[in-house]
Amino acid sequence: MLEILRKLIACRSISPCDGGAIDYCAEFLQELGFTCHVMQFGEIKNLYAKYGECDRCLCFAGHVDVVPPFSGWDSDPFELVVSGDRVIGRGTNDMKGPLAAALKAISDTNLHDKAISVMLTSDEEIMGDYGTNAIVDFLLDKKEKITGCVLCESCAKEAAGEYVKIGCKGSLSVDVNSVGSQCHVAIARYSGNCVNNLICFLNKLLPNLDDGNSNFEPSSAQVTYLNTPEIKSRNVVPNRATALLNIRFNDTWTFDSIENYIIEIAKQTHGIDIKFLRGQEAFICSTDEWTNFLKRSITKAINKAPECGIYGGNSDAVFIRKLCPVAEIGAPIHNAHMSNEYITLSDLNKLYNIYRQIIDDFFAV
Ligand SMILES: [Zn+2]
Repeated sequence: MLEILRKLIACRSISPCDGGAIDYCAEFLQELGFTCHVMQFGEIKNLYAKYGECDRCLCFAGHVDVVPPFSGWDSDPFELVVSGDRVIGRGTNDMKGPLAAALKAISDTNLHDKAISVMLTSDEEIMGDYGTNAIVDFLLDKKEKITGCVLCESCAKEAAGEYVKIGCKGSLSVDVNSVGSQCHVAIARYSGNCVNNLICFLNKLLPNLDDGNSNFEPSSAQVTYLNTPEIKSRNVVPNRATALLNIRFNDTWTFDSIENYIIEIAKQTHGIDIKFLRGQEAFICSTDEWTNFLKRSITKAINKAPECGIYGGNSDAVFIRKLCPVAEIGAPIHNAHMSNEYITLSDLNKLYNIYRQIIDDFFAV
């Protein structure tokens, strides 16, 4: 498994480049008897590899691209270093490590009578239009049938595999401009104060959007930026104040309903101007049947029942759910994207055991 990971890490696959990783995976799977479709959409290289024909097909999905190394590394980010229990390199956690575990699990399985596919892209970190999104459209067009998908994405809270991510919160950015007139503070009570107005608006919006539901925790609105023009004075009221918010919302809202709610609050306060930037709506991408199956296999593999929920950020599950039920099982997300990024050997082995167990159980049904 470390040899596979070493080769993947050596590919300088900073999105949207794949650095040779797609060809490496295609060759690896081809040797196992997979039929490999390397698909170039725009500047993005993607892979859909398929073994066998059967009523039920299990798919492993992921990405080979990584974020840039930035600074602060103690070793070459594209050279695998094993130090104690840590396997260090850009992408070891997100998600070449889990991908290496999945490839090794597949290669150690007797594939006879089984149908397994592998879906890989190199644009996940930039979430472009030519990655998993385009592969899924291609497969829908081909009427490819996949029973269930495991996305090997970094999503665990603490130890690898102990978390099954079954959906995603929605994301909406809100730019708030509060506009007024510059004036003497003594008369602001009569002429209005745009900073006070902005605080009033935020006070109404921030505290409680909803109570959540069985799948989702309560939605949360967070201020990421707050600014007034460069007047630092105790007796002049500025003419403008700005706040940037990001709202992570649950599936009790749609984009329209949450935007209308915010617009209604804005109407109650003078001079508030709102701009929305939509991310994605909240969704659940697994079914109870698929989630319970995965939970049973993980429990068998690591002797511990995994937690299940929607912790963490966005992923390509948003696209794959159009094709089949999908859940994320991978490394702890807190180690992703950092300098000296690592996955522990024990987490790598745990993921290998989990993916193998899933394959075994899937075809034992
Ligand atoms: Zn990732």
